[in-house]
Amino acid sequence: MTSIVVLGSTNMDLVAYVAKAPARGETVTGREFRTVPGGKGANQAVAAARAGADVSMIGAVGADEFGSRLRAALEHSGVDTDLLRTSEGPSGTAHIVVDDEGGNAIVVVPGANATVTSLDHGDEALIATADALLLQLELPLSAVTAGAVTARGLGVRTVLTPAPAQPLPNELLAATDLLVPNEHEAATLTGLADPHAAAEALLRKVPEVVVTLGAAGSLYAARGAKPLVVPAPRVRAVDTTAAGDTFVGALAVALGEGRPVPQALAWASAAAALSVQRPGASSSMPYRTEIDTAFD
Ligand code: ADP
Repeated sequence: MTSIVVLGSTNMDLVAYVAKAPARGETVTGREFRTVPGGKGANQAVAAARAGADVSMIGAVGADEFGSRLRAALEHSGVDTDLLRTSEGPSGTAHIVVDDEGGNAIVVVPGANATVTSLDHGDEALIATADALLLQLELPLSAVTAGAVTARGLGVRTVLTPAPAQPLPNELLAATDLLVPNEHEAATLTGLADPHAAAEALLRKVPEVVVTLGAAGSLYAARGAKPLVVPAPRVRAVDTTAAGDTFVGALAVALGEGRPVPQALAWASAAAALSVQRPGASSSMPYRTEIDTAFD
């Protein structure tokens, strides 16, 4: 079984559904409220576990009711949480207002995630057992960089999702094997709107890049190889939340199993296409048997 460690965030998403989002100073009555376990790190961990890997999560939840629920949700999907710390203070939360046009406004309060500033006792030994370490940018950059540098030193493949988009320290890029931005993140990192041009520019910093292109699929680029565009399956999308996290989780599993890159990308695309056809974030992520069926 492929072994994956995720060093990343856990957030409780607090989602209010309203006809129209309030303007400053205004109060509006919402239609519905939901609490949904999320955070990019936790979402990628769930995606990889459902796709068939042995997954462990490093990060932190708060010492509150959300923290217990976030941990339980990970365990429910088969993610090992032995090295997920419980820090004093609140869990990370994302306060999301979704309006009737599907637009949203989001405030993320990092909470416990902000306490993960470095690797802890036991983290290095766990990373050493992995085929890949998955990283995103919702933890302090000091921890993300320490994780990548440690994995690189151990010969463990590092897969970085540069979200939320922000400038990346050279030390982190130098320890990244595979960078997986979406189009917007690729443009922010390079200043180039064209994903092909952005991927080429990113190859000066990292050896392999996948730019995800939404319904248009994904673009793979590696040093010294011809770029490859893998189309996404044509499906009716109802909710694209966490499509990218589903894609990355499944891609890491397929690559860890030694599948050739084109096949791994197509398998990850099948997984992401399944997730966009259902409402929800991690709850919409497919299990391995579903991905295999869609892929055949
Ligand atoms: P993010 O969710 O990070 O913004 P994208 O929107 O690029 O990333 O989506 C990630 C992947 O999810 C895409 O590469 C594609 O495989 C899949 N995907 C996203 N939207 C659709 C869609 N409408 N139909 C089919 N697949 C989709």
